[in-house]
Amino acid sequence: MVVYLVGAGPGDPDLVTLKAIKTLQKADVVVYDRLANEEILKYASGAGMIYVGKRAGAHSKKQEEINQILIEQGKKHDVVVRLKGGDPFVFGRGGEEILALQDEGIAVEVVPGVTSAIGVPTTVGLPVTHRGVATSFTVVTGHEDPTKKERQVQWNYNADTIVILMGVGHLEENINEIRKYKDPQTPVCVIEKGTTPDERIVIGTLDNITKKHINPPALVIIGPVVDVFEDIRNNRPEDSV
Ligand code: SAH
Repeated sequence: MVVYLVGAGPGDPDLVTLKAIKTLQKADVVVYDRLANEEILKYASGAGMIYVGKRAGAHSKKQEEINQILIEQGKKHDVVVRLKGGDPFVFGRGGEEILALQDEGIAVEVVPGVTSAIGVPTTVGLPVTHRGVATSFTVVTGHEDPTKKERQVQWNYNADTIVILMGVGHLEENINEIRKYKDPQTPVCVIEKGTTPDERIVIGTLDNITKKHINPPALVIIGPVVDVFEDIRNNRPEDSV
């Protein structure tokens, strides 16, 4: 009777931790959603599989329903793995799942994952805290719970690098907020489907990024480190891939 919350990494199945693999190998059942790369499920061959993510055209299961599924499975099996994209605690609602399970007396362990917030920029060669231009970075959600009365995100933070997750749906609104505090020429890099074969990089500025076509899931990275990334990309040796 243990539920493991396991981070599946940002997409590339090679970016899963050894501990995640070992946990999947002993799973009786795996509860997973759409951001987890399904190739990772092969490590849990023999385990039952429960999909709780979004299907085209259908709504994703509500968090409350997912909690109930985890509770039911946790009571039935010795080892349940709740696989989540990236890291379970970076906008992953892992904390809510732990609290719901603990309320029912079910033990929970957490296996961290490579979060897309850092794993994706690092994979393409974008250094989020490049010495000399960025002493800090911040990770924010661009899509707050719509039932909240007031927005909690404070956009005028002092971080040199801003990484927005879930920022595509309300991109214009998010960029307009940041433009109140940063120069319109501040460079912006959008990385769609990072670390997967469909990865796509779009470069712009706060002034023009909303005019470009962007598809989710994507990260929006804002700050002078984007210029450093451009230098790194342009200086690649001829024969590098
Ligand atoms: N727990 C996850 C984040 C969940 S929120 C993590 O640690 O990565 C989902 C958001 O993550 C998406 O809207 C997108 O902004 C970002 N994201 C996740 N995987 C991504 C990927 N492969 N490429 C770009 N952005 C990604």
